[in-house]
Amino acid sequence: MTTVPVINGADVSVRRIYCVGQNYRAHAIEMGSDPDRAPPFFFTKPADAILPNGATMPYPPMTDALEHEVELVVALRAGGRDIPVAGALSLIEGYAVGLDMTRRDLQASAKRDGRPWDMAKGFDHSAPCGPLTRIEETGPLTQGAIRLLVDGEVRQHGNIADMIWSVAEVIAELSRYNTLAPGDLIFTGTPAGVGKVHPGNRLDAHIDGLAGLEITIGERHRADFLSAP
Ligand code: MN
Repeated sequence: MTTVPVINGADVSVRRIYCVGQNYRAHAIEMGSDPDRAPPFFFTKPADAILPNGATMPYPPMTDALEHEVELVVALRAGGRDIPVAGALSLIEGYAVGLDMTRRDLQASAKRDGRPWDMAKGFDHSAPCGPLTRIEETGPLTQGAIRLLVDGEVRQHGNIADMIWSVAEVIAELSRYNTLAPGDLIFTGTPAGVGKVHPGNRLDAHIDGLAGLEITIGERHRADFLSAP
């Protein structure tokens, strides 16, 4: 069972990982979408795709375009279905900084061909996630700087107040599709500035008020590179 540590609390066992697509205007625009017409949409990663803080993420096979997406992660302590927006925050255990690592070339071809995103988004170690801070310590997080540095250089910076769909709205909408449960994690979308990472890069992810997340990108295997599409 994959777990995520909790500051001043017991580890959370991860049940499912949900992700929200294009939840910041500037990122939707950089992906070629119209942010005003895009309803929230969801995809998933396997629970065991979690990579802990401080780890090295092996550069995945079958891609030449591994990209970073820094995101606010919400962990649930309770669940349900058809949850009203007004009741959504009571389900939250806490918050963490996460990275929705993406094989962008596979995502682009999947979009082009109308095929699933699973291999672009849900691959091994594709969900680095820092320790959770309990909502009792943070209060409901509705604003705060979010940023990602690669080798000390700022690549993404935004504010979680700029989400198109708030955390409460995301939880409510997701609960219309699936019954939510304790241990569900929701990656809530990334601000603008996504881009490639390379072996040896150090990624530092930060959201105001939360413990940071730092990972290193590991080596790639030359044979994998040569066999990539
Ligand atoms: Mn994302």
